[in-house]
Amino acid sequence: MRAAAAELARLQQLQQRRQRRVVEAHPGEEASARVRVEGRELVNFCSNDYLGLAHDKRLGAAMSAAAQLWGAGAGAAHLLTGHTREHHELELELAAFTRRESALLFSTGYMANVGVIQALCSRTDVVVQDRLNHASLLDGARLSGARLQRYPHGDVSAAGALLASAGKRAAGEHAALLATDGVFSMDGDVAPLAQLAVLAAQHRAWLLVDDAHGLGVMGASGRGVLEQAGLDEQQVPLLVGTLGKALGSFGAFVAGQRDLIELVMQRARSYIYTTALPPAVAAATREALRIVDRDSSPRERVHALTQRFRRGASQLGLALGDSPTPIQPLLLGDAARCLAASQRLMDRGYWVAAIRSPTVPVGTERLRINLSAAHEEHEVDGLLDALHDVLTSGVTA
Ligand code: PMP
Repeated sequence: MRAAAAELARLQQLQQRRQRRVVEAHPGEEASARVRVEGRELVNFCSNDYLGLAHDKRLGAAMSAAAQLWGAGAGAAHLLTGHTREHHELELELAAFTRRESALLFSTGYMANVGVIQALCSRTDVVVQDRLNHASLLDGARLSGARLQRYPHGDVSAAGALLASAGKRAAGEHAALLATDGVFSMDGDVAPLAQLAVLAAQHRAWLLVDDAHGLGVMGASGRGVLEQAGLDEQQVPLLVGTLGKALGSFGAFVAGQRDLIELVMQRARSYIYTTALPPAVAAATREALRIVDRDSSPRERVHALTQRFRRGASQLGLALGDSPTPIQPLLLGDAARCLAASQRLMDRGYWVAAIRSPTVPVGTERLRINLSAAHEEHEVDGLLDALHDVLTSGVTA
């Protein structure tokens, strides 16, 4: 192990040293994307608050009312005394919302992915994954001890070949677990879900879809990419969703058929050995689900703003990726250039993350622009102007 200072210097030299910025306040209106950071007011284009619910007063009110009742924390793990009525009702509502038989809450999406894979797979199993899957899916496979096989991004035939070589299993056993992001977090594209579901059925593999970025945003009624693709719980036995993105609160869940979900509950270490999330957080999520169910306008708004951004970018000749979601990557392909562009945008009042290795492969460094229903049209137009100026001024480190 190298000394910490030497390792930090190495990260600095590789342009991979991360820096946190302190958000001091949300000075705008309730559903605004404005933040005050180190004394400056910025428009935030890097949150996952796609529907603008994170600062919605209705969620805040539900949370404070529940905190009066339940206090600040659950006080124990779910399997001990931490599983309150608030958690229980939320699980029932999540199952109904996703049209699955059963749902199990986890404290974070990271823990859900790690827990589900570790619960269902062991050394003798094979886990097949898209190369660009979220880190938590990869870590889950590693933790389970299963053989992890990765296919090139979105390559269905490569996935098929890996499943075919996973080996035969006795009748009634699953040959492998196939896991994919629904919406890829750094590219915004949607996985070829219908084709993956066919493959999974052919090869008797469990299909796990992590819809962290699609839930609340995609599908005719915001139920996510599986609604959009028309896939039920037979075709996709494991649906993971996170609650800290479009739903504006915190936590995650896995949904599917009752027995499978109960098995996850019995075995997932990241479920069993951790404190249940605060009941007041569950109450805020319940309010968010009610809002998403009742009101399609935030969803329509974020898609309209995304289209506005894409139209503007294409008029300016900016090379965006091919993404139908509010995640819009602009590949610059160089860490120093990304950092410099991000800094210049910040100087103009826009907060846009520079995404670098190891989050994305070296050579695909990018600015990632995340749209939200909380953005104003003029903020999107202003960002486009700023991007144009910054990128045509030959931004270099
Ligand atoms: N899956 C994906 C695809 C994600 O992008 C994220 C969050 N970045 C997670 C899982 C983890 O969710 P959480 O933030 O709730 O741990």
